[in-house]
Amino acid sequence: MSKTGGCICGAVRFEISGDVTETGACHCSMCRRWSGGVYLGIQVPPDQMKIEDESALTIYASSPWAERAFCATCGSNMYYRVTAPGAHQGTYHVGLGSFDEPDGIVLKEEIFIDKKPDGYAFAGETGKMTEAEMMALFAPQD
Ligand SMILES: [Zn+2]
Ligand SMILES: [Zn+2]
Repeated sequence: MSKTGGCICGAVRFEISGDVTETGACHCSMCRRWSGGVYLGIQVPPDQMKIEDESALTIYASSPWAERAFCATCGSNMYYRVTAPGAHQGTYHVGLGSFDEPDGIVLKEEIFIDKKPDGYAFAGETGKMTEAEMMALFAPQD
């Protein structure tokens, strides 16, 4: 079943084809600042993401390997996207909060868990990875 969503002001609207069943949380310092809290991202392959009016977005290259997009009018964060060449290039991580119907999507994993502010924690079982574990996973192999 497809999922729709958009920003506060409605200038950005998107539709994701294919099933959306799970989300992940990122506690890294960039996601923390960008989202103003904790970023809940849904991984979406490039061919399943349709954005109605891309010109409504401002796209910011937040690192050498990814960009982040937000509505140029209202500032709502829309997605994180991998730009680095490789298997993940073009993959979107669309914010759960921007979905029209965010129910029924399960929090499966938390990354950069060692960077999480100590004043809160998610309830329930999740897979957890530290910054060092993430870096080991994505570091170039030789
Ligand atoms: Zn907007
Ligand atoms: Zn992050």
